[in-house]
Amino acid sequence: MYAPNSMDIYNFYAAQGVRVRVTPEQCDGKLSLNVFGRRDRGSKHPKRSRPVNEMTLAICKNPPIIDSDTFLKTQFKKKAKLQVSPRTGTAKTTMLSGLVKCAICGRAMSPSGSSRGVRYFTCSGKRNYAAGTCTSKSIKVAALEKIVTDDILRYATNPKVIDMFHAMQGSKLTAEQSHEVNLLQQETAKLDIEIDNLLDACSAGNATAIEYLNKRIEKLDNRKHDILNRINEIKKETENVISLFSGIEIENVPYILAHGSVDEKKNVCQFLLNVVLFTNADDVKVYYKM
Ligand SMILES: [Zn+2]
Repeated sequence: MYAPNSMDIYNFYAAQGVRVRVTPEQCDGKLSLNVFGRRDRGSKHPKRSRPVNEMTLAICKNPPIIDSDTFLKTQFKKKAKLQVSPRTGTAKTTMLSGLVKCAICGRAMSPSGSSRGVRYFTCSGKRNYAAGTCTSKSIKVAALEKIVTDDILRYATNPKVIDMFHAMQGSKLTAEQSHEVNLLQQETAKLDIEIDNLLDACSAGNATAIEYLNKRIEKLDNRKHDILNRINEIKKETENVISLFSGIEIENVPYILAHGSVDEKKNVCQFLLNVVLFTNADDVKVYYKM
């Protein structure tokens, strides 16, 4: 594994129930972390596919290759991929689902079921209401997809747009901010351990001791909340931007549109587009989020 021994990574694995063989003090971000499955004789699982509670997190002596943010993003992406629902990819799905609106009446347009293999985007005002509610034309799904794909390709290869995406993606925590956050996270993890120890002591103590221990616990807990608030303050400003733009690399968009699955193309459209306003095949307006 190439991720640094930072508290972000420590917390990411600890939260999933990986056995943590590392103390918070050791997580200064300078070395890398390794996750391994031990050769437990009792385990029914092969080494590579152990459940997380049979995995162990330990420090290895090499410097990290990527930063915590990048590593965690790839982990979340992997998870997101696994969650793709099995219903997607059915005949009704198109990459534009939920994005197309009729410019004449403002209602949503959705793809019809396939009749002899050809599907149409039709205004719901035309489909569901009495004849004449909306006079808009329908358009073949493939034809509308082609128009929008061409529009996105022009957008995603425009140097100004690419620069804009890079500028947004560059807004990570500064090195000093990351360092401060890591120190604060180390401190909260130590507080957790102290609180756990005090709770253990409570179960063995008498009434006076317990009262004293409870006061100590409350103090530690308050301190912990202060620290968590401070971490949130530091992260708040940059995080909205990061979460908006971490989903996709703008350079990959042309490749995905040419070779991706329906789900991948749909993901690109959801990520980039606000709405597609359809009047007729010669008048389709594509509105972008940025
Ligand atoms: Zn309409």
